[in-house]
Amino acid sequence: MSRRQSKGAGGSGKPMKQGKPAVQAAKPPKQARSARPAKSDSDAPFQKNEEVTVEFVGLTHDGEGVGRAGGYTLFVQGGLPGETARARVMKLKKQYGYARLEELVKTSPDRQNPPCDIFKECGGCQLQHMDYAAQLAWKRQSVVDNLKRIGKLQVAGEDGEEGIVVHPTVGMDNPWRYRNKAAVPVGAADDGQLIAGFYARGTHRIIDMDDCLIQHDRNDEVVRVVKKVAHELRIQPYNEETGQGVLRHVMARTGVVSGEVMVVLVTNTQRMPRQPEWIEHLRKQIPGLKSIVQNVNDRTTNAIFGDETRVLWGSEVIYDELDGIRFAISARSFYQVNPAQTVSLYRKAVEYAALTGKERVIDAYCGIGTISLFLARQAGHVYGVEIVPEAIADARRNAELNGIENASFEAGPAEVVMPRWRKEGIEADVIVVDPPRKGCDPALLDTILALQPERVVYVSCNPSTLARDLRVLEDGGYRTVEVTPVDMFPHTVHVECTVLLKWAGE
Ligand code: SAH
Repeated sequence: MSRRQSKGAGGSGKPMKQGKPAVQAAKPPKQARSARPAKSDSDAPFQKNEEVTVEFVGLTHDGEGVGRAGGYTLFVQGGLPGETARARVMKLKKQYGYARLEELVKTSPDRQNPPCDIFKECGGCQLQHMDYAAQLAWKRQSVVDNLKRIGKLQVAGEDGEEGIVVHPTVGMDNPWRYRNKAAVPVGAADDGQLIAGFYARGTHRIIDMDDCLIQHDRNDEVVRVVKKVAHELRIQPYNEETGQGVLRHVMARTGVVSGEVMVVLVTNTQRMPRQPEWIEHLRKQIPGLKSIVQNVNDRTTNAIFGDETRVLWGSEVIYDELDGIRFAISARSFYQVNPAQTVSLYRKAVEYAALTGKERVIDAYCGIGTISLFLARQAGHVYGVEIVPEAIADARRNAELNGIENASFEAGPAEVVMPRWRKEGIEADVIVVDPPRKGCDPALLDTILALQPERVVYVSCNPSTLARDLRVLEDGGYRTVEVTPVDMFPHTVHVECTVLLKWAGE
């Protein structure tokens, strides 16, 4: 594997824009961390650059080891709970600091050799040094901790204590090569050559890469072909610092069941240079290719996509299947990246909805209607609501594609549309919500409490906002019955959950 690096940034680049998962260990929020001047007023019993012995007691929400040294907290990338290590102190704040792992003195039985040889540099995975079974246990525990700490909820204990049942995390038999989508930044190496790969942890320095162990091999192959063609056609890579150059990102999406492939080339320019040659080469070299799309992003931004998307060749969508339901997926559609685990997650949501064929179900935050169509197979009628109009167009098309007639969709903010539905007399026996990381809007939670469905199924990608919202629903008369964490993103710190609540009020 070639390991060229992009120019200049040398670790001092801007931090990557990434959704920050919930805080899991006692780590102060970013603001508090940067508010104080370094070192001078630190409580640490040692100095910067000193080597200290650290005992690890936990992991933070982003997978760093939480270490203790002389009564002081040090965050150390790479340490696992139960381990002891020698570490070099890098940065000191009043109550905590950061250190670099030098040598493990005592290792955890949960430690494994990261199979990927760029794990340490890459920002994509955080937990490859941890055995998969231990990752699953840690994810379950992180859900439990959030429910208790943020939600002030009682979790059922192993010793028969009453409370919410939190099941073991549903893992994958083979937790590799699971991603159906790759979005890879393009840049220039020091010698000006076009490279594409990943951002080194915490920076915008691109490291060239051809093989990613959590990526479907077809997507890796697409990226390799795009790189090769870009070389041959002498396409200028985009330079983040100067804003010059053409190719910014490559996105590859594979329908894992259908075998259909979409390539999206994100350019800094309106015109796609050498368009006919691009099309010819990609068609020849990518099996299963159904769609080549250009997206124009000429802004200085961390966002991958701009507003303008056009089909250069082939279809506007690719098709894929989840549990026998077909979905049309366009370049900008949200579609879960781990299809195998998505089926487990959605099946669990349907199970929790306990449908008999008569129920009216609301699916809030429905995206392209994925959960809605799973539900529709067993419900009386499903009402989906979603804020992105294009996603609603996809949802309607997907219902039609599958001959599903008992699902209808409306575009708009769920917290506005649902109260209106209520006024129009749309009642719900079950409400399913699947909000983004920030959780449900308070107005939406109020609407759930006003509609008072017998069951609420909460699908969440962020245990801390989940716990916050469950507290509100509990205070309003719901009882949280059970939680199933599903591992949608093995080797990363992310955890997804499906939760069942039942009306328990008067
Ligand atoms: N249930 C879908 C999508 C979940 S992602 C699936 O599993 O594929 C969350 C979705 O919520 C996104 O599609 C996002 O566009 C949508 N969203 C965000 N804020 C919203 C709001 N206020 N009202 C309705 N939908 C919203």
